[in-house]
Amino acid sequence: MRRLYRARRWRIAALPLRLALAALPCACEPPARAALPADFVSLAQIDPTIALDLRYATANNFVGERIDGYDTAQCLLTRAAAQALARVQADLHAQGLGLRVFDCYRPQRAVDHFVRWSRAPDDPAQRARHYPRVAKSELFAQGYIAERSGHSRGSTVDLTLVDAAGRELDLGTAFDFFDRRAAGDSPDVPPAARELRNELRAALERRGFSHYAAEWWHFTLANEPYPDNYFDAPVR
Ligand SMILES: [Zn+2]
Repeated sequence: MRRLYRARRWRIAALPLRLALAALPCACEPPARAALPADFVSLAQIDPTIALDLRYATANNFVGERIDGYDTAQCLLTRAAAQALARVQADLHAQGLGLRVFDCYRPQRAVDHFVRWSRAPDDPAQRARHYPRVAKSELFAQGYIAERSGHSRGSTVDLTLVDAAGRELDLGTAFDFFDRRAAGDSPDVPPAARELRNELRAALERRGFSHYAAEWWHFTLANEPYPDNYFDAPVR
């Protein structure tokens, strides 16, 4: 998931005001755009060798149900991001590794679903699996969930490494495990997992992606074509 790391402090300070204004039309952020630009593509068409495990199109995610806006299990990205990922995949292939992608473009309505979920009563099973050491009410303040996600701009991906046989490698935590151990440089994961995190990060950075420090799986194309646009068209 994409967090707005730089905006965290502002969000905490502004929260009471935002709650007070929640029922009023808000001019503080531009509305998400309904239609996707023509240069959004399916990653499978750019590189069918990249494995897809698109969790939000299924119930296998921290919410425990299919997320709004994921009408089909497709990885949509800007062409620039998809082509850069294909180059990462080729680089990794030469090392006997590959990518498995968990999330790509994420409609604003999916982010809104996360926000609704965060305000609903806790589910002990989901808590144990995804955020055992962080209160659900703290997931916003600690930057694990935000009201706007970089994924909605179309050039952000969540992914991990697989071996040559397609088996997912252990990078120290599961995807969407909201915990300090998910931080890319966490000292609290085994050395082998840290090494794999470093390999993943180096491979992505070499092809123009930047890493989100709090989550080893989250990367954004640094030179993304729509840095200021958040889209809301469903994935279909
Ligand atoms: Zn993400």
